[in-house]
Amino acid sequence: MDALPSLQNLIIDIQPLKSRIANERNISVDILRLDAIHPIVSGNKLFKLTYFLEQAKNSTHKQIITFGGAYSNHLAATAFACSNAGLKSVGIVRGEKPEKLSHTLKLCLENKMYLEFISRSEYLHINTNNFTDELIKKFGSHILIPEGGFSKKGADGAALICYHYYLKNYSHVCCAIGTATTFAGLIKGSFREMIIGFSVLKNLLDVEERLRYLNVSSSKKYSIIPDYHFGGYAKINSELISFMNLFYDNNKIPLDFVYTGKMMFGVHDLIAKNYFPQGSKLLCIHTGGLQGNKSLPDRMLNF
Ligand SMILES: *Cc1c(COP(=O)(O)O)cnc(C)c1O
Repeated sequence: MDALPSLQNLIIDIQPLKSRIANERNISVDILRLDAIHPIVSGNKLFKLTYFLEQAKNSTHKQIITFGGAYSNHLAATAFACSNAGLKSVGIVRGEKPEKLSHTLKLCLENKMYLEFISRSEYLHINTNNFTDELIKKFGSHILIPEGGFSKKGADGAALICYHYYLKNYSHVCCAIGTATTFAGLIKGSFREMIIGFSVLKNLLDVEERLRYLNVSSSKKYSIIPDYHFGGYAKINSELISFMNLFYDNNKIPLDFVYTGKMMFGVHDLIAKNYFPQGSKLLCIHTGGLQGNKSLPDRMLNF
């Protein structure tokens, strides 16, 4: 048996949310504050990294290489976690090096990640054997983490999130879907509860296929909600921003506009539409991502 990852020893806050429409239907809604693990780094990302970090720590090369775009929460989390664990990290970044680095990439540099910029056309080939051979030639031995942590190991790490609520008898657990790795982990770790995933991408039609690749058993209960992407990845409108501001006023909990804002909007909308049976006990996973809000215009958000 592997040593317990240190995330498991953390006590992660579960907070009840204020919601009139939920009260009227005798539904309770809690939120698991993975965002509170760290002010900048997305909580779910740290879980997904757990087993990769363990593997790298036990290696002689102590080096991790991974991939992402200029605003990737995954890159930022990997840089942070590696620096924290005394591991070297390399980030392969999609697109040419810009004049001005994004706040995300600056954060990576602060955490001593070595950044290598490659063209978008080259980036299309990051999953080929040729490309990984080149990485070994250039950087030496390393542990490779697929983009977004999308892998069985990533999903097994995400499944550790369940230890933070499994005694609470929730009927439904809700999360945002990007690569679906976190969603898969929650499903893997589930017992009787239904896992509801809110896709933040417009045409993410292969979630079922992704779940199979991540070894999710078909006997588990889950549901994929495709209706709350707000026009596509990282797209916003005034309805979403107003909702996030109101949510903050009511609960004093900040949401990010790419993932958790859309998931929470969807949860509230589905409650209003009587999607959840009376008496349901909901848990929403706050996966973090708050550093992403820095790319919004000043004062658009009231937090
Ligand atoms: C990456 C991310 C997600 C999506 O996680 P996946 O495992 O890729 O589906 C959700 N929320 C936040 C805040 C994220 O940064």
